[in-house]
Amino acid sequence: CGIVGYTTDPAASNTGALDVVLEGLRRLEYRGYDSAGVALQVGTGGQLWTAKRSGKLARLEEALAAASPPVSGTGIGHTRWATHGGPTDENAHPHLGGNGRVAVIHNGIIENFAVLKNELLADGVEFLSQTDTEVAAHLLNAAYETAGDLTEAMRLVANRLEGAFTLLAVHADVPDTVVGARRNSPLVVGVGDGANYLGSDVAAFIGYTRDAIELGQDQIATITPRTVGIIDFDGNPVEGKKFHVDWDA
Ligand code: GLU
Repeated sequence: CGIVGYTTDPAASNTGALDVVLEGLRRLEYRGYDSAGVALQVGTGGQLWTAKRSGKLARLEEALAAASPPVSGTGIGHTRWATHGGPTDENAHPHLGGNGRVAVIHNGIIENFAVLKNELLADGVEFLSQTDTEVAAHLLNAAYETAGDLTEAMRLVANRLEGAFTLLAVHADVPDTVVGARRNSPLVVGVGDGANYLGSDVAAFIGYTRDAIELGQDQIATITPRTVGIIDFDGNPVEGKKFHVDWDA
């Protein structure tokens, strides 16, 4: 239901990803939700660090306080409004693929998830949730193994999904990078100074920047601390629509 992504150079900034992501999720609470979760990058070559809980953000924050999360410059956060699978801890996002090396959050509904899930099950993939979303995590892991590039992997996956989705992903092997895709569901880039943002709406990053870029239908944005790249689902570069948020938040 609500989506935040953030990346900064941890050496250049005092604001860690967890603080920015939680602040964004708080500002998105007005949309209503039943679960919340985060994924953080911790170095490369290992696994991502994740935490997720059903219920209010306060429950996630309690879990975070008890777990001493790592300092990280790159992360994603989600508030869920369940459509497929009940509001449980397991069904909360992020969903993981590749043994915790890739994390995906999703707004919307993947209409053809059952067909994709059966394919993945036949390949021996193990599912940990009842969501439609989890197929995207496993598909993205496999696509990254083949393509060797997270943006291209997201493009390949987005082309296989039907329905409505805003998807955000981070990969343990791709530092300082968040990739987002959208079809029939909104995604906005926030442009900062040595830091960039992705959000389901500008409320996700309005506490930090008012410079934004709107993504069009069937587009993919890749952010690093100092770059924003946008392509369409065919792989063509796109000039995003820049705007300035001048209302009070
Ligand atoms: N369909 C997904 C789920 O049920 C995402 C729901 C949402 O937009 O929060 O987990």
